[in-house]
Amino acid sequence: MTERLTHIIGGQQVAGPTTFESRNPAYWQEVVGVFPSGTGPDVDAAVETARLAFRSWRLVPAPRRAEILFRAAHLLSERKEEMSRLMTREMGKPLVEARGDVQEGVDMLFYIAGEGRRLFGETTPSELPSKFAMSVRSPIGVCACITPWNFPLAIPSWKIAPALVAGNTVVLKPAEDTPLVAHRFVELLMEAGIPSGVLNIVHGGGDTGAALAKHPGVDLVSFTGSTETGRSIAHACADTGARVSLELGGKNAIIVMEDADLELAVDGAVWGAFGTSGQRCTASSRLIVHKNIYSTFLSLLAERTRTLVLGDGLESSTQVGPVINQSQLQRIHEYTEIGKAEGARVICGGEIAGGEGLQEGWFYTPTIFADVEPQMRVAQEEIFGPVTSVIPVDGYEQAIEVANGIKYGLSSAIYTANVNRAFTAMRDLNTGIVYVNASTIGAEVHLPFGGTKQTGNGHREGGHVLDVFTEWKAIYVDYSGTLQRAQIDNQP
Ligand code: ADP
Repeated sequence: MTERLTHIIGGQQVAGPTTFESRNPAYWQEVVGVFPSGTGPDVDAAVETARLAFRSWRLVPAPRRAEILFRAAHLLSERKEEMSRLMTREMGKPLVEARGDVQEGVDMLFYIAGEGRRLFGETTPSELPSKFAMSVRSPIGVCACITPWNFPLAIPSWKIAPALVAGNTVVLKPAEDTPLVAHRFVELLMEAGIPSGVLNIVHGGGDTGAALAKHPGVDLVSFTGSTETGRSIAHACADTGARVSLELGGKNAIIVMEDADLELAVDGAVWGAFGTSGQRCTASSRLIVHKNIYSTFLSLLAERTRTLVLGDGLESSTQVGPVINQSQLQRIHEYTEIGKAEGARVICGGEIAGGEGLQEGWFYTPTIFADVEPQMRVAQEEIFGPVTSVIPVDGYEQAIEVANGIKYGLSSAIYTANVNRAFTAMRDLNTGIVYVNASTIGAEVHLPFGGTKQTGNGHREGGHVLDVFTEWKAIYVDYSGTLQRAQIDNQP
């Protein structure tokens, strides 16, 4: 039976006249849920409710707010399997990866709940006698969290948990391809004790997201998604004056040097390029390989890639699931055509998969382009599918130049046995995340997550996320009983 869901605004279930469906990408005929398409009035109601709730939530002591998040972490841990299976049905990633996504939510809840007893500020001497100076973190207000479909639970958790622990209230607008996982996560947080109105969810597509992003009652927009959408959100926030945190695209490179452990590098490349069907912003979509080992690396990579088993993520044999929807499938295939026209050589895949068990879903064969030149579109643009481009280089200097020669700067990796070279690369790679002898994916929640250049606007989630969801307040307490003038009194 198909589930019919609603928005949740102020703890109330709110339906709507027009609806959309969330479907299983492995069996596109299976409708996972039916959701209302949020309209302007729904967004107004959610933002107003969140504004009202902010008045009391900001006054709840942070350790009490955090206790609710600890409870949510335990609940999510207990329901990990159920939530993971739902995620695989709705989003397609293999169950083992869906479990990782849910675990990331558990980790984030525990990590951020710990901040309830920290949220450290600073004290510092005043330049004047009998005067006390400190800075404290304050909540910002109503946070609009607009999330993508590739990490249907982890990404909402990265935003909602820190927003709430800091005393903000939230309106979540999850991706229209994965609304049910996000909905269940919001219900779980409310079951753990988040009060009505403090956390609201409005479903819908880009129009709903746009209405939320430009709402004058929103104080902060936290967005993860495409560069194009991020830019339009930044424009909207420039008009309203809302704070804005953007996590956008990536075109991440693994550098494989001539002294690398090749088996290890191939393991990392296959996992980084084809895990989650390449639909991670940190996916290894470029492999920059030293010419001395280029042909050996290519044949090992192709050999391994051809053995990957495509299928429904709920089957234990599946290593690569479907891609999210039909338009994404077509977009990926268009890039294959673009790559061929540019002169890149397809040595593996390059087709919409149509074998047994794959005809009712959106499957693309893991694809490797060889002999790619750094300026080709397939080496510059984010494809967001199981496609990687292998680029030969003469040596370290050229490898770094190619790795940094793109508009994005999220993640990068180098495989080398030379410790000096590894440290030089840590210095030279212009990305927010750098891995040594590991793939470009695998971020942990307590380290800063985000990128340089057009990957974002300078913010970091994960480890330093409280800098996004709090505002610094400087406080001076004068206990001298006299008028003391800074920069004037006690000066020569
Ligand atoms: P993706 O390619 O990952 O789907 P999008 O940027 O299109 O990236 O979508 C990410 C999120 O942004 C989704 O929740 C989507 O509904 C929302 N969204 C899409 N367009 C807009 C927009 N113009 N303004 C605000 N949110 C939007």
